[in-house]
Amino acid sequence: MELIVDLLKEFVSIDTTATEHKNFDLMAKTIKSRAEALGLKAEITYDPKGIPHVIITLPEAPKDAKKVIFLAHYDVVPAGENWDHDPFKPFVEMNRLYGRGSADDKSGIVAGLVGLYEVLEAEKEPTINPLLVVVGGEETGEAVEFLGTLTGDLAVILDTGPEALSIGASGIVRAYITVYGDQCHSAAPMSCKNAIYEAMKIVGFLKRLGKRTIKRVKSKFPATRDFKKLPARLSVTQIEAKVAENVIPGSCSIIVDRRTIPEEDIKNVAEKLRSEIIRFARRHKIDVDVEVKPLAPGWVTKNTNVIEAVRDVLESLLAKEVPVGVELGTTDGVWLIDRMPVVQFGALRKGTNVHGANEFVYLDDVVLVKDFVRKLVLELEL
Ligand SMILES: [Zn+2]
Repeated sequence: MELIVDLLKEFVSIDTTATEHKNFDLMAKTIKSRAEALGLKAEITYDPKGIPHVIITLPEAPKDAKKVIFLAHYDVVPAGENWDHDPFKPFVEMNRLYGRGSADDKSGIVAGLVGLYEVLEAEKEPTINPLLVVVGGEETGEAVEFLGTLTGDLAVILDTGPEALSIGASGIVRAYITVYGDQCHSAAPMSCKNAIYEAMKIVGFLKRLGKRTIKRVKSKFPATRDFKKLPARLSVTQIEAKVAENVIPGSCSIIVDRRTIPEEDIKNVAEKLRSEIIRFARRHKIDVDVEVKPLAPGWVTKNTNVIEAVRDVLESLLAKEVPVGVELGTTDGVWLIDRMPVVQFGALRKGTNVHGANEFVYLDDVVLVKDFVRKLVLELEL
């Protein structure tokens, strides 16, 4: 536990704000030197954008063993406002360690490092060949190209919660709608069509569509939290119209965020959403432009043998049944699933304020994820 707290404090105290690539080099070098001090092998590779990624392995790779990638990231989202303390001065209180990145995702790095260190200490032959891959630029989507170069027999992403073994994630489709009216002086509103009022009709339609979607479009897979069966979701996330306080705006833009289930084809979802919006607009004589982008597909690991093997290890560790489910959000698994099965587990428990103010991690969860890594490396049969 002491080692976990020391490493986590050191990593959290380095501000690695993703949008600025802040301290990326220092962070990569710190991870490398800590890994080496624990007796592990570590190397830094730079991608074409100049972002360093760290790959940590056992000093001697077990012969003929299957390659398993444990994936974590060192960059963090900006601290933002309303913290009760300095986000980069970590401290422990009531078995929680506070600070930006304490859960997302420096907990994953520490669990991986200490898990592999304990494998060395165990002096037993591992059943798999583990690679702890710690990437930068995850939160900004800049790690995608590097992730595309990874190969292996299984990926274990240490960047979700410990409530369930996660075997997939939702996808994203976004719609960008522009509603047109006529711009005019607000002193004479009789003479023009207010784009905000036109947009409200579309927003009302989208709200009803969102309710229908969550009720009717359901995956056969459970969600990792909140839902017995993962549903598709649709929300209006932005609305914007502004010229001046005394001008009726001539246009209003709306952004719609549609989360897809793994069974949905995102191109079909995008096309259908576009035509539904256009049909509603035509029927109500609303002038619109609609652009819909299929951004990332939902996915699920289909190899049930692998899922069961990982689940067995986790259940023997926890001495209880572990639910299996699909994430409500997206994860980096989408960039790996075409080449290998992917499972996800980590210390980002619900309620730990990941991406919010006063982020923390339960130290017991970091220990759990560390034990999970160690046990997989020593016992997993693929
Ligand atoms: Zn993360």
